[in-house]
Amino acid sequence: MSKYYLNDEAGLSKAGNKLYQLINDLYPICRSITGKGVRQTLDILSELIPLNKIEVPSGTKAFDWELPDEWNIRDAWIKNSKGEKILDFNVLNLHVLNYSTPVNETIQLEELKKHLFTLPEQPNLVPYRTSYHSRQWGFCMSHNQMMKLPEEEYSVYIDSTIKPGSLTYGEYFIEGELKDEVLITCHVCHPSLCNDNLSGNVIAAYLAQHLSGQQLKYSYRFLFIPGTIGSITWLSQNEDKLDKIKHGLVLNLLGDSSNFYYKRSRRENTEIDHIMEFILDQDKRENTILDYSPWGYDERQFCSPGINLPVGRLSRKPHSEFPEYHTSADNLDFVQPEYLAESIGLLQKAIFVIENNDIYINQNPKCEPQLGKRGLYKSVGGQRDQKDFQIAILWILNYSDGKYSLLDIAKKSGLNFQVIVTAADELLKAGLLKNKIAQDG
Ligand code: ZN
Repeated sequence: MSKYYLNDEAGLSKAGNKLYQLINDLYPICRSITGKGVRQTLDILSELIPLNKIEVPSGTKAFDWELPDEWNIRDAWIKNSKGEKILDFNVLNLHVLNYSTPVNETIQLEELKKHLFTLPEQPNLVPYRTSYHSRQWGFCMSHNQMMKLPEEEYSVYIDSTIKPGSLTYGEYFIEGELKDEVLITCHVCHPSLCNDNLSGNVIAAYLAQHLSGQQLKYSYRFLFIPGTIGSITWLSQNEDKLDKIKHGLVLNLLGDSSNFYYKRSRRENTEIDHIMEFILDQDKRENTILDYSPWGYDERQFCSPGINLPVGRLSRKPHSEFPEYHTSADNLDFVQPEYLAESIGLLQKAIFVIENNDIYINQNPKCEPQLGKRGLYKSVGGQRDQKDFQIAILWILNYSDGKYSLLDIAKKSGLNFQVIVTAADELLKAGLLKNKIAQDG
């Protein structure tokens, strides 16, 4: 059995603080689907795990797509007629339309407004906008700021380049006992936004670090990829690896205070779906299980009909359902260490189930075996844990007929999965169980 080790409360709290600090370091970087921002981000995440950085040249074909030219930006601002900066990329990188072409002009307010993006419904916030596929320049500002701009001349300056280069992504592989893999993926293409996507990035990196060096049943593959184009690129270049992926999770939006949401895989009935539903069911907090839908994050690619992997998505409140989504309010106040810690705790429990959800076969199925002579029946009891352990022994012996997994038995019995695993381990040691795979040879 896998001995996958989970953090205790103190360990989780320490991890939450550490990851919040990492988000602080990553927040100022201007990321996009290509460019130096992604490389810098992967370098910082490499403080936790030695990420393998992969560069795929612009123009490379990826199924129906072609990789775009690389975008990089150094500076951008708007100055009023007095030469004062009224908007500065270095203060907040959301101020520039992501993938904006360069510009250096003096224009009238009316012309400037054609290149401004605002949120009239949330007039104090700066929106996050991208233009990956149509070439244009633009700025994002609060609606209030735009409404107050006086009629005068403005100098607009964006020092950016869009030219052949590459798309960068990070990959990290941990070899387990089996060739079968668990895929954990997150997108790394958003600029200064904390919940979307930095929370997913630091949590994935932390889990990778935590799993490294442990004795694992499954192999684990972590991907840090630009949204959509990154997963399409990875899938198009790794089709030979796909049949090894037995479970997968897309991670994002895991740093805010809202409840957990699990979105099922397209196949809807996979082991990862059952595991995540079980973990959330046992969790004290309210949660929501969503059926698969073909919008959202990279699950759209991993669950496209020709790929159709057992990949679900864990987030807290989904994209576009919280007012801070894709705005300047998704900042360092919106995410907090304690919520990062909660998300890690939940994911570690899920990994514990993934690692230990085996099917066993009772070696003494004709009536109950005599537990006392094997030291498996403690006559002086009374402790809660001891009682659960004793009941778990009976449930496991009864249902280990080669059909029911330990997760099935945990669900049937209502017992905690860890108690089930501890009891199964004792039964294995006593020779009363055999792993189905071992027995089938
Ligand atoms: Zn987003």
